[in-house]
Amino acid sequence: MRLSRAFLPTLKETPTEAQIASHRLMLRAGLVRQTSAGIYAWLPLGWRVLRKVEQIVREEQDRAGAQEILMPTIQTADLWRQSGRYEAYGPEMLRLKDRHEREMLYGPTNEEMITDIFKSYAKSYRDLPRNLYHIQWKFRDEVRPRFGVMRGREFLMKDAYSFDLDQPGAVDSYRAMMLAYMRTFQRMGLRAVPMAADTGPIGGDLSHEFIILAPTGESTVFYDADFENLDWQKSDFDSAKKADLATFYQQITSMYAATDEKHDLGAWANVPELRRREGKGIEVGHIFYFGTKYSNAMGLTVAGPDGKPVVPEMGSYGIGVSRLVGAIIEANHDDAGIKWPDTVAPFRVAVINLKVGDTTTDAFAERLYGHFHDDPMYRNDVVYDDREERAGAKFADADLLGHPWQAIVGPRGAAAGRVELKRRASGERLDLSLEDAIARIRS
Ligand code: ATP
Ligand code: MG
Repeated sequence: MRLSRAFLPTLKETPTEAQIASHRLMLRAGLVRQTSAGIYAWLPLGWRVLRKVEQIVREEQDRAGAQEILMPTIQTADLWRQSGRYEAYGPEMLRLKDRHEREMLYGPTNEEMITDIFKSYAKSYRDLPRNLYHIQWKFRDEVRPRFGVMRGREFLMKDAYSFDLDQPGAVDSYRAMMLAYMRTFQRMGLRAVPMAADTGPIGGDLSHEFIILAPTGESTVFYDADFENLDWQKSDFDSAKKADLATFYQQITSMYAATDEKHDLGAWANVPELRRREGKGIEVGHIFYFGTKYSNAMGLTVAGPDGKPVVPEMGSYGIGVSRLVGAIIEANHDDAGIKWPDTVAPFRVAVINLKVGDTTTDAFAERLYGHFHDDPMYRNDVVYDDREERAGAKFADADLLGHPWQAIVGPRGAAAGRVELKRRASGERLDLSLEDAIARIRS
């Protein structure tokens, strides 16, 4: 994409309504625009990032054996009356009436609906286990929408729901999702700490919130420094290998992570002093085993192997897809702007022409841009700053927008066949030939 033709409404001034860095940067870099309290329009750059985040979430859900569907945003009140949550949910639920005065609502979550759908088809134990997910907009009328997309009223969530024949099966499903989550966040360049969370009346230990470490986070987390060193992507656990999943789960839960004193500080004592860490963080995901709560309420039963009816065991697994965009920025920025991890950057490469109109510089910059633009793997990932702007303004915009690689072409460099390659995350600068610059970006 050529910046001279792009819709990239950046702001010069720091917006005063934004209290935290990610919110300020999302507005300044023109990623989103608030249309009313806690409700945002996603502009071209923000939309690109949101789709990349969504795609990583999708790929890891698929890899873990979950199957994607799409449920509607609008639900009937009747569905929620069956579980008793229509009354219980309170003012966070946006309630509507259709022209026949039927009570409807904009879904804040989908346990009732998925159970109702699944119930229509699942008849026997052979229909289990299954895990279904969707990535859909939710509405929660939050008391205090704030921090931009991090606590919005309308937000994009991935929610998965598992159905198992018995508790051991539900535990396997839970562990598979936990591993999928570790991989998902790592692919986005994030360190997520799975923090033991309240299970409510169900009891047990099968509820974890995933916390991205960031000083502005709302949660406090204690964790073993080893979390920072593990590579979940490389671990070759497979959802089919239950024994491996059990080992993995053991490994994770032995590296204690918790909020304040609410949770068992027995495990924390086992973490060696030198490896103990405490931090603030942002909740980007929550996985939860809730047994037969919804299957019971919604009347879901299947015939077991002996023909007797069995009430399936369920769990639900959420990821705040739109919140993640803010959380990623919160974890990756400096005073100048965003430092996108490569996997979620709106563009992976920016070619910056410092002297538009100068024949040599134009030709050289076009060659570099053309190289990536002609490659289907990069076409959508390269942006060319061909605007007639001062060099200083271009540098400032490139740093604000956070492109992981900046390939800077000026008249002197172009004449000598050289490119200055800047790595946004580290600030490292390299003076390279065109070929070497291309090879470096590709590596
Ligand atoms: P919170 O405690 O932050 O309100 P929650 O417990 O209500 O979160 P869940 O119901 O578990 O959240 O939803 C799953 C995920 O959806 C959360 O982990 C979070 O990442 C995201 N999420 C929840 N509420 C919002 C919101 N208002 N705006 C953006 N994302 C949200
Ligand atoms: Mg909430």
